Order: sequence, then structure tokens, then C-alpha cells
Amino acid sequence: MEELVSLCKRRGFIFPSSDIYGGLQGLYDYGPLGVELKNNLKSAWWRAMVFDRDDVEGLDAAILTNPLTLKYSGHEETFTDPLVDCRKCQSRWRADHLDDGTCPSCGSEDLTEPRPFNLMFKTALGPVDDGSSFAYLRPETAQAIFTNFKNVVDSTSRRLPFGIAQIGKAFRNEITPRNFIFRVREFEQMELEFFVKPGTDEQWHQQWVQTRLDWWADQGISPNSLQLYNVPANELAHYSKATFDVMFQFPHGLEELEGIANRTDFDLGSHTKNQGDFGIHAKVMANPDSNSKLAIQDLETNKWIVPYVIEPSAGVDRGVLAILHEAYRVEELDNGSKRTVLAFKPHLAPIKVAVMPLKRNHEGIVAKARSIKQELQALGLGRILYENTGNIGKGYRRHDEVGTPICVTVDFQTVDDDDTVTVRDRDTMQQSRISVPDLPAYVKEYFR
Ligand code: ATP
Repeated sequence: MEELVSLCKRRGFIFPSSDIYGGLQGLYDYGPLGVELKNNLKSAWWRAMVFDRDDVEGLDAAILTNPLTLKYSGHEETFTDPLVDCRKCQSRWRADHLDDGTCPSCGSEDLTEPRPFNLMFKTALGPVDDGSSFAYLRPETAQAIFTNFKNVVDSTSRRLPFGIAQIGKAFRNEITPRNFIFRVREFEQMELEFFVKPGTDEQWHQQWVQTRLDWWADQGISPNSLQLYNVPANELAHYSKATFDVMFQFPHGLEELEGIANRTDFDLGSHTKNQGDFGIHAKVMANPDSNSKLAIQDLETNKWIVPYVIEPSAGVDRGVLAILHEAYRVEELDNGSKRTVLAFKPHLAPIKVAVMPLKRNHEGIVAKARSIKQELQALGLGRILYENTGNIGKGYRRHDEVGTPICVTVDFQTVDDDDTVTVRDRDTMQQSRISVPDLPAYVKEYFR
């Protein structure tokens, strides 16, 4: 983990937030390469969940959330972790994270009894902070999908089964944020709520588990690094009938990367008006506040039903950490030196191609390199970097370390002789000459 954290800072993937003021616990900022990697991961998810399917719609809802939403969702009452204080050194811990009932900081056994601590952040709305008007920062993106259910159905005429996908920030006041970007207080989720007919939910649940495992494999996560955890009944969230956690072998241990839950009709049932009309299966709180019917007409029976929902919910930050860890390797070279490589799948690489002139000040070479950069950039594959440092060997090493799959070098032969460039491959380190007119097709094929 330390090597990864140091590489992330050194090369501009991830920085501790507010670093110049000593940081702020549980918060990180994504740097020039981190933002590209993160965006590439989110785009891959969106493509697979929305564009490649014809049964999912997208949404981008507000982060600040009406307290009533989080009252009826059950979060006000149950979204808590057990907190203990160490009486000796005054540090605070999550009771279920203590191995042997002793304080991890000073070793004292003099701890308070665990008490529930709500993880939601509150903020005042409007100019006067007198407690009368507040909102929560959402602890999951899912709730706005449920509260927009009728809006989406009415505007798209969707019928079951169908899903609504959303990527966005979520906030949890974690008692002990730790392990770099694994457990943080501000993070991003990629969530799909997939609405199905009651009775078909278990089959859909199985199907989504497999779909999600396949997707992680497409992002370069080896199936050997993943395990499925069938969450036992006493550990299930309040809304869940069954949950499978996709566990990944992180640098600090085997932990949850994504949760795939069968949320039944709990959420739509909780937020709907006239709950008595729909034969809701889950135990929900009476709701006199909602003004909307969150139900859909069953085409076969013409009856109104509250759908069940299957929710694959993945953390973007945990995804980034998993991909960095999986891609990171240090290789011994024949000449006894070492090289560090981030062997990202091409579609995730922050920089797709680096174009480098062999001579910094040679007008013809520099102009040619710039024009190649423009031409490759226009392919729309992601970031193509023109980089004029004049040191090609160092450039290759640096681009190995940040995972750039292809480096293109423009030299004298290019401009004086045959209009070919050197194309150098990150993984094999092989160099070949390719003619400039053929380069766009070569690069396009590589990233297909
Ligand atoms: P954990 O048990 O690790 O606290 P959780 O079961 O509370 O996680 P979910 O509520 O299922 O997590 O959230 C869905 C996903 O959101 C998780 O699988 C994880 O990838 C991500 N996530 C949740 N909490 C955090 C956090 N504090 N920091 C980063 N990612 C998180």
C-alpha cells in the first residue's frame, strides 16, 4: 500500500486533501492522472450499464437531500455504526473494527460501551442556521433514484423490468476513515437500481451478480483476486432480503468492492403514498408525507404493483484502488535494473498515447510531433499527450510508471527520410516503425 500511495502522489494520481494545511482526515483529491483514470472507469461503467443495454435510463440528482427522504428510507434511524471511546487516550473507534477489545492506538482495555453513531452529514439550508431548515448530504445515491421513480416512468414509458443508473458523490461520516481511498468520508458510487416484478427478483439477483463479476474482469481485475460473500442475515442492511458482496484482495486485506443487494419493495414501498393499495411485502413505516404513487401497472394483470429492486452498488474510489493495485508491478530487466509499470487495460489508461520529439529544438521534428498529436487527439479515444522533454529513455520509463500504453517518437528519419515513427509498446517494450499515414488506424485498432 505504501508504494502505491507514494506513486499516486509522486505521479499526480491522488493527493491528501487540503494537504498544505495538514490534510483533512478521510478526504483525498484526484490529480491530473487520477481524474483521467477515474473518469475512464466511470465511463466504462456507464457504457456497460446504460449505452450497451436498452433497459436502463440514466439520472444525475442533487446531493443535498430532503430529510423526509432519509427518514422514510430508514437512514435516520438505522444508518449507524457502533462507536467506542478509549478513556485513556480519547481516541474513537468502530466497535466492530476492534480485534480484541483493546484500543488500537494505546492498547488500553478501558473503552466505553458501544453507542450508535449516525453516519449522515447535515448542513443548514438558507442564511440562518437555527436548526429549522436543514438537509442531509446523501449517504448513497440510490434514494434519489427511488424518489424520481415516477418522473422517469412517466417521461420514458418504461415497463418492468428496467433500471435507473446514477454515478455521483456520497458522504458518510466514517468513525475511522483509513486505508487510503478505501474508506473515506466523501466518495463516489456507481449505482444501478433495477426494477423487476416480485417473484422474479431472485433470478435477476443471480444474473446481476454474474454480470458485475464479468464487468470487473473487463476492467483488468483477475477473477482470482475476487470472492463472493453471501452476507449472513444478521449482517444485512435494513432494506435487504439478500446481498452478495464482491470482495477484492486489497493491499490491506480482503474487503468489499461492490455490494449487490435485493432491496425488495422496501424503498419504493416506503416512499409511496397510499401504501395500503399495493400489497407491499417489506415492513415499511406509514408515510403520510409522500405525494406520489411509486407503483407501476403490470401489463398482464393490469394491477398496480410496487416493483422489487436489485441494486449493484460499486464504489468508484475502491474501484480505482483495486485497479491501481492490480495493474502495479515492478519488473527486473535483463540489464539488472528495474522498471515500474501500471499495466492498465488500454481503455482505463489516463494517457493513451505520448507523442515525443527526439530533439527538443528541431523545428521540423517538433512540428511533426505536434501535428501527430492533433491527428490522434481527433480520434476521440481520450488524452493524447504531446511531450517535449528531449529525453526519450526517461520518457518511456515515466510513461510505464503511469500506464501509458503507447509512446510515439518522432525523429530525423521521420522528417528527412520515410515519414515513419517509432511506436513503443508499454507491456512488451518492443519498438517498431510505423508509417505516419497508418498511425491513426493502428492506434484506433489498439484501443478498440
Ligand atoms: P462497508 O461495509 O465497507 O462500510 P458498506 O456495506 O457500508 O461498506 P454499501 O452501503 O454497500 O457499503 O455501499 C456500496 C459501495 O459504496 C461499497 O461497496 C463501497 O464500494 C462504496 N463505499 C461505501 N462506503 C465507502 C467509504 N466510506 N469509502 C469509500 N467507498 C465506500
